[in-house]
Amino acid sequence: MAKQVVVLGSTGSIGKSTLDVCRNLGDEVEITGLAAGSQWELLAAQAREHSVPRVSIACPDAYSKLKDELAGSGIEVLHGSEGACALVAERCDSVLAAITGAAGLPPVLEAARRGRRLCLSNKESLVLAGPILGKIARENGCELVPVDSEHSAIFQALQSGTAKEAKRLVLTASGGPFRTWSIEQMAAATQEEALNHPTWKMGPFITIDSATLMNKSLEVIEARWLFDVEPERIEVLCHPQSIVHSLVEFVDGSVMAQLGVPDMRVPIQYALTYPERRPLETAKFDLTEIATLTFEPVDRVKFPSVDLAYEVLRRGGVSGAVFNASNEVARLAFYEGKISFPEIVATTGRVLEEHAKSGPSRDEATPSLEEVIDADRWARERAEQCICS
Ligand code: MG
Repeated sequence: MAKQVVVLGSTGSIGKSTLDVCRNLGDEVEITGLAAGSQWELLAAQAREHSVPRVSIACPDAYSKLKDELAGSGIEVLHGSEGACALVAERCDSVLAAITGAAGLPPVLEAARRGRRLCLSNKESLVLAGPILGKIARENGCELVPVDSEHSAIFQALQSGTAKEAKRLVLTASGGPFRTWSIEQMAAATQEEALNHPTWKMGPFITIDSATLMNKSLEVIEARWLFDVEPERIEVLCHPQSIVHSLVEFVDGSVMAQLGVPDMRVPIQYALTYPERRPLETAKFDLTEIATLTFEPVDRVKFPSVDLAYEVLRRGGVSGAVFNASNEVARLAFYEGKISFPEIVATTGRVLEEHAKSGPSRDEATPSLEEVIDADRWARERAEQCICS
């Protein structure tokens, strides 16, 4: 029988690649729901192409347009966060969760409650609510399978040992477009320069996060909760070619790495078919052509976001939510030309510091979801104020 799959965030970069993978898997999967943010025309086209019975859209304006567009098609149209949650509640084995940002959290938690396989691309769910999501997943038999390429690499490496047997998890980072730039050059970086990623083609916000290395910082936190490994055993290594997607060193000195041409369809398909593998046409992988793989430490002065991630893990509680929310606000401000590039991470650091002194739920070791959402809201307001002052 076909595996029933719901794709959350189907019009984004990961969502589109997921639909490619579903085309590749053919009869093996049936898409039973699609959710998107505002791109209603593309969502309607996707629903028609894949004969999807139900779709949901977040943006209220787009909802009325989508309803008109699909009137008489037999496709049910839902909206808002409740709509996305309703999609994972019925006729669903696996959820590909690729809504970016804090908005992705409610349907992810709903999928965990329902015991679905959660193919997780939305790293914010773990950054905001790692312990909460982990607990719900364990209690309801929800399998968490990462889609993020680095975490997929670690997940695959861990097929030959357990996380307990791992001496360290090493996340590789391309270093983004500013790896070789000076601090002075970075201070004057434009939006176009930040959006010019050397190895991966992704959405604009995650590309800016790659330029600040904020993406890697979020991934350190993601790895901590996904694999239940202490922060001391997680490291970041710069690897500009993005061929080694990450690696695990085990206690006996054996190192397992996962390699491949950068292509998000590989971790997406693996998350859907795990523990099995299916054929997939990818660009030729030829080590003699690649010839050189280089590695270097991350420059923590040029990229202060990485130290902030370890600070967040040390502090725990709601600080992941504060970290992510401030970054989302500051990143958008840079994208809109309101602040300079270094101010993205500076703003995030400032809001974190303020939170440690006087923010909500700062002493709460195991916060509730409400406290997490509250801290997220607080941090957004604080970040806005920092940017305007
Ligand atoms: Mg990644």
